[in-house]
Amino acid sequence: MALLFKVDDSRGSVWKSLFEQHAPDIDVRLWPDIGDPSQVRYFAAWQPPHDLHTRFPNLDVIFATSAGVDQFDLGELPGYIQVVRMLDPGIAQGIIEYACFAVLSLHRQVPLYLRQQRARVWQDHELTPARRRRVGVMGLGNLGVAVTQALRPFGFELRGWARSHKHIDGVQCFAGDVQLKPFLAQCDILICLLPLTDDTRGVLNAQTFAAMPKGAQLINLGRGGHLIERDLLDALDSGQLSDAVVDVLEDEPPSPDHPFWSHPNLWLTPHIGANTSPDTAFEVLLGNLRRHQRGEAMHGVIARHQGY
Ligand code: NDP
Repeated sequence: MALLFKVDDSRGSVWKSLFEQHAPDIDVRLWPDIGDPSQVRYFAAWQPPHDLHTRFPNLDVIFATSAGVDQFDLGELPGYIQVVRMLDPGIAQGIIEYACFAVLSLHRQVPLYLRQQRARVWQDHELTPARRRRVGVMGLGNLGVAVTQALRPFGFELRGWARSHKHIDGVQCFAGDVQLKPFLAQCDILICLLPLTDDTRGVLNAQTFAAMPKGAQLINLGRGGHLIERDLLDALDSGQLSDAVVDVLEDEPPSPDHPFWSHPNLWLTPHIGANTSPDTAFEVLLGNLRRHQRGEAMHGVIARHQGY
């Protein structure tokens, strides 16, 4: 039974050589060298083709090489195929680094000071201590919780919001739609680390921004589909939000005339929050393959009805 990767060529050869070294019993194939499709039991990809289950009649498991699975058309896949997301510790580390860089930059008003530098203005502003800065995280899963714990030592007042109730050290937690507004009212800096689902699409919208304190700041590390871009531009232009750091867009890459390229209150990065590195992800993937071979539950299997 084979494991088929559909990833870019350089990564594919790294994955293949890791398996050759550490798990030579697993028949690893690299797209488009599929071989006999009926032998493909496992499929690993970031962007899968649509006709997976018809092309590979014995497919058991799809491994996303990403933490999110929004790029999969889950409704199209038969229920017997398990979809597993990537719980790579390297992804969590990347997101922690990005979130800390962005929160500290916004907290210390770096975007403002860079605007001043360009205007040759030497002017300091009142320093807000971290204990008076409220940082809220939307999504308290693997990554959201890791970010709260990485931010704790700075002394920020931490808030978090998820679907279900949580108890997380040092974090005041809110749950569900009814507690969204009270949560937002306490976010001077809001970080989105939600999965993109039917329920979360467009969650970063005009109502959300209006519910935040005036002059609040936004970091979108989730997916582009969470954000209504026009609403963010309006919120920045009106001063309801003072700054935004955006790592993900609905259309990546954006067109040359996309307004985010040049907005003075917005930092844009090209989806670099984190990416899966075979070095750290290999053990996670192999662990799951072995669990599946032994008939045990794998880690990171998504709940198909929830979409994450
Ligand atoms: P998890 O599945 O571990 O956590 C998701 C969290 O979101 C859970 O706490 C869940 O609540 C909450 N959630 C889901 N739906 C809702 C909803 N409708 N209302 C409120 N809360 C909700 O995901 P990860 O932490 O591993 O990853 C989160 C996302 O980060 C990924 O899906 C991806 O979009 C993004 N990401 C971005 C990267 C980048 O490079 N920018 C890299 C990696 C990931 P509950 O706990 O109650 O189920």
